[in-house]
Amino acid sequence: MLETTRIPEPVLVELRAIAGPENLRLAPGELAVYARDATPLFWGMPEAVVAPADTEQVARILRLATEHRIPVIPRGAGSNLCAGTVPLAGGIILSTVRMDRILEVAPEELLIRAQTGVTTRALNDAAAAHGLFYPPDPGSHTVSTIGGTVATCAGGLRGLKYGVTRNYVLGLTVALPTGEIIQTGGRLWKDVAGYDLTRLLTGSEGTLGVITEVTVSLLPKPPVSRTGLAYFGSLADAGRAVSGILAAGVLPSTLEFLDRSCMDAVEQYAHLGLDPRAGALLLFGDDGDAAVVARSFEAIAAACTDCGALAVQTAGDVTESEALLTARRCTLPALSRLGSLTILEDASVPRPRLAEMVARIGTIAARHQVMIATFGHAGDGNLHPTCILESAADTEGIAQAERAFAEIFRTAIELGGTITGEHGVGAAKLPYLKERLGCEQIDLIRRIKIAFDPAGILNPGKLGS
Ligand SMILES: Cc1cc2nc3c(=O)[nH]c(=O)nc-3n(C[C@H](O)[C@H](O)[C@H](O)COP(=O)(O)OP(=O)(O)OC[C@H]3O[C@@H](n4cnc5c(N)ncnc54)[C@H](O)[C@@H]3O)c2cc1C
Repeated sequence: MLETTRIPEPVLVELRAIAGPENLRLAPGELAVYARDATPLFWGMPEAVVAPADTEQVARILRLATEHRIPVIPRGAGSNLCAGTVPLAGGIILSTVRMDRILEVAPEELLIRAQTGVTTRALNDAAAAHGLFYPPDPGSHTVSTIGGTVATCAGGLRGLKYGVTRNYVLGLTVALPTGEIIQTGGRLWKDVAGYDLTRLLTGSEGTLGVITEVTVSLLPKPPVSRTGLAYFGSLADAGRAVSGILAAGVLPSTLEFLDRSCMDAVEQYAHLGLDPRAGALLLFGDDGDAAVVARSFEAIAAACTDCGALAVQTAGDVTESEALLTARRCTLPALSRLGSLTILEDASVPRPRLAEMVARIGTIAARHQVMIATFGHAGDGNLHPTCILESAADTEGIAQAERAFAEIFRTAIELGGTITGEHGVGAAKLPYLKERLGCEQIDLIRRIKIAFDPAGILNPGKLGS
């Protein structure tokens, strides 16, 4: 735990004046809500929570915090899984909850502009009203904010075909720690004037500036969208099928996998009638014109069968499709019901190494005697090995899980992969970052951090620290 700060009374007075007294929280009971995010094992008590209404207010809060050297932690929904919003050094939680307005939908430009606190689903609903869609769809889409997803460069179930958040961000309004307001990018498809600060800020995890408005591009909503699943004897077979599908020249919108433990958990949670004899499940989906989707499904089914699928099924209608996707999205909450502590991790490997990575995770789990269930975005090579412990007080079990995960991250790097595909670094992955990036890049990241945030007030103890 880093040293905590005390916020002087004149600063509290100023914060009240900026955001309004009703938007500054100081009571211990209210602060405790912000001591954690969706990451287990990390905790830190803030000294104040402030919810500004707009960019101007955010900039004034940041300038004040820089003047007084008080940590500020930007926070959307707090659904991140890398302890990115845990106030390790105390200070002020800057909640974006009040900045929740869609500012503009421009169908003729295929873009939407929104304040940072709009949820991913609300953004997509606004796009859908114009026959458009916003492809990044993290499992947390009902709660995660667009600002939070930009700050973590979130992925989702459609990443294989459509990419991740960074592929859609056109422009950002950002308040810098020193109080200046900048507009990066804009609404243009082509703009190479200067360094690409939009890309730098996308995935910057609240360490360089506070994003207050976001402009993202949209796509026309495909006329048909279908989902299916294939059962396999083992996760390794399912991993090989992923390579088989891609080698067949098909690019599905969704290609997700669940191992047996995840299937059991999801079945208990959602009652879908999943085959209890299979060792793994591959959930696939595609969208586009009906004939194209039909051809794509034929090719996917053939590739799965060639790789030893026990059965291949296609959802009968939109409701059944949606039920399958919802089941995949609820894998984490379903697993959480199996024990008191669920540690979900995130590693990525090149797609051809997926089957090998899955097998190595099994060996590592057995060696450290921990239960690890694995699911993830198979098509992206992105796995979520998840450790379930019966008791949150099992310190030896937690230590074994941490040793197992350290080995999993090292294995991912050894196979040409990375320590996080989409959840970010935050505090949780910071100990592994140097191994992934090397000293030169870590030094450069620190120099970039100082250029944006000379007093080091933004999200201390995280990326850039
Ligand atoms: C059930 C579940 C399913 C999930 N599924 C996925 C998934 O499929 N794909 C995926 O990528 N992630 C997934 N996540 C993780 C999480 O939802 C994402 O990381 C999401 O992008 C976080 O959004 P948020 O609004 O909750 O951000 P927060 O958790 O509040 O913040 C995340 C980070 O961004 C920073 N931040 C937040 N807002 C701003 C801002 N306005 N300006 C600057 N920095 C800011 C914070 O300081 C923090 O570092 C899942 C989480 C859960 C609980």
